[in-house]
Amino acid sequence: MKTIGLIGGMSWESTLSYYQAINLGVKERLGGLHSAKLVMVSVDFAEIEKMQHAGDWAATAEVLINAAKSLEAASADGFIICTNTMHKVAEQVAAEVGIPLLHIAEATAEVLKRDGLSRVGLLGTGFTMEQEFYKNRLIQNAIDVLIPDQQQRDLVHSVIYQELCLGNIRPESKKAYLEIVQSLASRGAEAVILGCTEIGLLIQQVDTSVALYDTTKIHAEAAVEFMLGKQSAPNL
Ligand code: GLU
Repeated sequence: MKTIGLIGGMSWESTLSYYQAINLGVKERLGGLHSAKLVMVSVDFAEIEKMQHAGDWAATAEVLINAAKSLEAASADGFIICTNTMHKVAEQVAAEVGIPLLHIAEATAEVLKRDGLSRVGLLGTGFTMEQEFYKNRLIQNAIDVLIPDQQQRDLVHSVIYQELCLGNIRPESKKAYLEIVQSLASRGAEAVILGCTEIGLLIQQVDTSVALYDTTKIHAEAAVEFMLGKQSAPNL
C-alpha cells in the first residue's frame, strides 16, 4: 500500500469525513484489520479563511506549500488537498514538491465522464462557483457547468462558512440547498456536484432525486485507488 498525504483542517469537519472514507475504502478492498497508511498536516482554518476573504491567495499558497513539503518529508507517496476551494493554488503547491497531487476537480471530472454526464450544476464556496480555476478543469473535460444565481450563491457560501465549517447542520439550510439543487436541475443540469467538502454533511443522495456527486467521497476514492491500484481484492 502506498502512503497518502492529506492537507486537512479546511475545515476539520470535512477532514473527518476524508479520514473515515479513505479507511473504509481500504477496508472494503483489503478486508480484515487493514487500514489506511496516511500522514496528515492539519492547518488552522481561521487563518486560511481570513487570507481567502482578504484575497491573499499567495499567503494561502505558502501555508499549503509548507504543508506539502512536510508530507513529502514524512514519506507520503502522493498527496491530496482536502478542500475544493484551495485548489485555487493547487498548481503552485504541486510545483514545489516531488510527489504527485491528486486534483479534486480532475477526479470529479473522471467520474462524471465515466457516467456519461456533460452538463452539471456546481455548489461550493463563492470562490469555487464564480472563479475559473475549478470550472475550467471541468470545461476542459467537455463538461458544461451551471451555477446558482447570485442570491442562491450568497446563501450557499454563507451556510458553508457560518454553519457547516462550524459543525452546525440546520434543517432550514438543508431545505434551502435542496431547493437550489432542484432549480439547477430544472435549468438543465443532469446532476449536481457537491463542490465543497462539507456539503455532504448537509445533503445526501437520499434527500433528492437529482443525482449528486459528492467531491469528498470521489476524492477519497481517488486516494484509495492511488494507494492500492491493482492490489484490490479480486472479488471487487
Ligand atoms: N471545504 C470547503 C471546500 O471544499 C470550503 C472551505 C475552504 O474554503 O477551504 O471548498
